[in-house]
Amino acid sequence: MASESSAQTVASEPGEPESALETARRQLHHAAEKLSIDPNIVERLNHPKAVHEVTIPIERDDGTVEVFTGYRAQHDSVRGPYKGGLRYHPEVTRDECVGLGMWMTWKCAVMDLPFGGAKGGVAVNPKELSPAEKERLTRRFAGEIRDVIGPTIDIPAPDMGTDPQTMAWLMDAYSMQEGETIPGVVTGKPPVVGGSEGREEAPGRSVAIITREACEYYGRQLDETRVAVQGYGSVGANAARLLDEWGATVVAVSDVNGAMYDPDGIDTAAVPSHDEEPEAVTKYADTVIDNDELLTLDVDVLVPAALGNVITEANADAIAADLVVEGANGPTTATAGKILAERGVAVIPDILANAGGVTVSYFEWLQDINRRAWSLERVNDELETEMRTAWRAVRREFENRDVTWRDAAYIVALSRLGEAHRARGLWP
Ligand code: NAD
Repeated sequence: MASESSAQTVASEPGEPESALETARRQLHHAAEKLSIDPNIVERLNHPKAVHEVTIPIERDDGTVEVFTGYRAQHDSVRGPYKGGLRYHPEVTRDECVGLGMWMTWKCAVMDLPFGGAKGGVAVNPKELSPAEKERLTRRFAGEIRDVIGPTIDIPAPDMGTDPQTMAWLMDAYSMQEGETIPGVVTGKPPVVGGSEGREEAPGRSVAIITREACEYYGRQLDETRVAVQGYGSVGANAARLLDEWGATVVAVSDVNGAMYDPDGIDTAAVPSHDEEPEAVTKYADTVIDNDELLTLDVDVLVPAALGNVITEANADAIAADLVVEGANGPTTATAGKILAERGVAVIPDILANAGGVTVSYFEWLQDINRRAWSLERVNDELETEMRTAWRAVRREFENRDVTWRDAAYIVALSRLGEAHRARGLWP
């Protein structure tokens, strides 16, 4: 197992969106400029604590052996064990894991969770693996990273290409080697082996809660609010349905094939989510528009909840919404963010809006450690409390410092990280 303690940034090509690592570092320095934070602490946060690179040989179903590369990047643990997803995707790289691990540090800190940030994955196309091959890959990966994960060390979770079943295999492989059942080593498991009720819908629920709070802040009643949601998966469908339930008019939702548009409002419960019937949104639509058109619809709130880098220099001037709530990770490029800020469009950042996922992961971890399951009602009540508390902390910085919502969220996160590093000091 290779372990390194510094990262090299791979700069994006001119005109290309910046990489996750570039974004994470830019946000760190940008927030640091606005705070009187010790530059030595910023320097520490600029680097991951360790990046573990492992080789994962697996036997394919045809008897041949194939070797994959896996990573676990652990960024910072000053506030608690590392926390972050594991993705199976052909483009997983070391730098991507470092950048996304840094994002997890900011996200956990803005939510005031007692976790640090990490991300990992395997460079593999999971669609080319049979279920049995995926299980062997996961078990061997768990074996290779066993020494650096654990319920008090580093707690993985699902991400792109991985799911509750993957987490159940990981938990089983880890537990078998430890000689006891340790559900708290991963989150996002099926409830029957220690997963939490409400985990799946949590990121969408947090997007809806933050949208509601932001509308209230700007003096907008939800029942007078028109919303467009890009992406109808776990995040988008849950956010759209809750906002619909709470009185907003959802006029457009989309998947990879295009968008359903109805100016009178969509019955979101009647449109199948990605999980219920994959990529079927347009099948149920009377009027179909394309995804680019959805982004520039004349609505009050836009929720990009599909992919990164969809609001760019090319369309930022045409965004008609007054409020953008980021459901996806990184849907707004840095240049687009500047244009929207100049135009007075409020953008509530991903690290706050979709943080319901990691927050309910924290609840899952608490349930596992205490061997006591919570009801769905309790999970949703506590999520509501955590989201409102984080919203208030970010709102305070937004009001006091006259910065964007994104800057305010990073300032909250960095202040907490800076204070924790100052209190603990540098060992030895
Ligand atoms: P998902 O796979 O459940 O759904 C994705 C949706 O986006 C699908 O409806 C798909 O058809 C649609 N889509 C794909 N390509 C598209 C395109 N080109 N144009 C429009 N729509 C497209 O994914 P998800 O879990 O909802 O994740 C969505 C985003 O939210 C990702 O950026 C993810 O990183 C982020 N996120 C997810 C979680 C989580 O726990 N699920 C937590 C935080 C952030």
